[in-house]
Amino acid sequence: VHLIRRRVSVGDWPSDWFHVDDNIRRRDVLLDHGLAPGAALAAALDRGPAGLLGEIERSALRGRGGAGFGSDIKWRSCRDAWGDAHYVICNADEGEPGTFKDRVLLSAFFDMVVDGMCIAGFAIGASKGFIYLRGEYRYLLDRLETRLAQRREAGLLGRNILGRGFTFDIEIHLGAGAYICGEESALIESLEGKPGKPRIRPPFPVTNGYLGQPTTVNNVETLALAALIAVKGGEWFRAIGTPASTGTKLLSVSGDVERPGIYEFPFGVTVAEVLQAAGGVDTQAVTTAGAAGFCLSAGEFGRRIAFEDVPTGGSIMVFGRSRDMFEVARNFTRFFAHESCGFCTPCRVGTAVNARLMDKLAHGRGSPYDLDEMEKMHRLMQGASHCGLGNTATIALRDMLARFRPAFERRLHSPDYEPAFDLDAALS
Ligand code: SF4
Repeated sequence: VHLIRRRVSVGDWPSDWFHVDDNIRRRDVLLDHGLAPGAALAAALDRGPAGLLGEIERSALRGRGGAGFGSDIKWRSCRDAWGDAHYVICNADEGEPGTFKDRVLLSAFFDMVVDGMCIAGFAIGASKGFIYLRGEYRYLLDRLETRLAQRREAGLLGRNILGRGFTFDIEIHLGAGAYICGEESALIESLEGKPGKPRIRPPFPVTNGYLGQPTTVNNVETLALAALIAVKGGEWFRAIGTPASTGTKLLSVSGDVERPGIYEFPFGVTVAEVLQAAGGVDTQAVTTAGAAGFCLSAGEFGRRIAFEDVPTGGSIMVFGRSRDMFEVARNFTRFFAHESCGFCTPCRVGTAVNARLMDKLAHGRGSPYDLDEMEKMHRLMQGASHCGLGNTATIALRDMLARFRPAFERRLHSPDYEPAFDLDAALS
């Protein structure tokens, strides 16, 4: 597999569309592939629903939002579920810190995303789709609406698409800035006009989603890749990446690098190769899924970006040696305390306690007991939280505590502090 890299410069966000850097060699992968609007749709209609699902299965495409669920399984389960109507939702609520790849796809590759939604609708038997657009991307809304209207006029959306008797239309729904609405069931609640709180599952959205009907929720990148697969076929896609993580992955690389931006690599690329492409110099740490994933230190940069090693939704934040990793961790804890939806106690209380403990440490009033408390809180939240936010909120903190402990211990009021009593012994 070739090492494929392609960078889209970030530009002067958020003023306009994003400039696509032409200096990097082209390959037949997502960012380099110039599909004509509707090409994927025509290919999918030619294949038929069963043929299309067969290609998605052959491709072994897995969702790009982070969880990596098999797209063919999701689409088949949704198609087979009973309902008055089926729905497709494009999850464009891109709120993970350090992630901006979906913004670029929506800006520069929107037709591929729409084609992906249409073919998902064709595969599962839906005639209606929604794009749940992150509230902070409001500045994109008018352009996206205009493009949807142009597609309707061109016969690429709406009634009788391409004169082939297939009807599918798309509505854009704007989020209101809640990170939790990236979680698919909270997103559906929000789409229905309710507060964005994750549902109890099962039942899953593929059987009981929007308005209780079968619904497939896919990430922006997943849908764009599905459009490519409809044209190029599953075997073509499967030849890229690793056996368990096929295809390429878009990475938003930010932080202490010379060339921040969007990169596309085949799955299996090492963290070191990503850093080399982006110009990371004297890097002490990277977080691999925004604030909610692993934090790796320099000795681990040989690890691979893949579902079987280091999974990622697409955010690589790079921290040079000048960064105080304690302050990075403190920032993350504040973020999660702010974004916890408050539905379940482990996350609502745990994120708030962690943020307070970090503030206490920052003000020189902490003790080694507080560091132990945060490690215990991680174990508790991972096991008892209701949704992915609570389950992942402390992963980076745990990793930073393990890898950069001196940065935390420097803040202790008394490094020789001994608790007045041994809580573990008292509880045992
Ligand atoms: Fe809400 Fe956090 Fe519980 Fe998820 S884990 S339901 S975000 S309180």
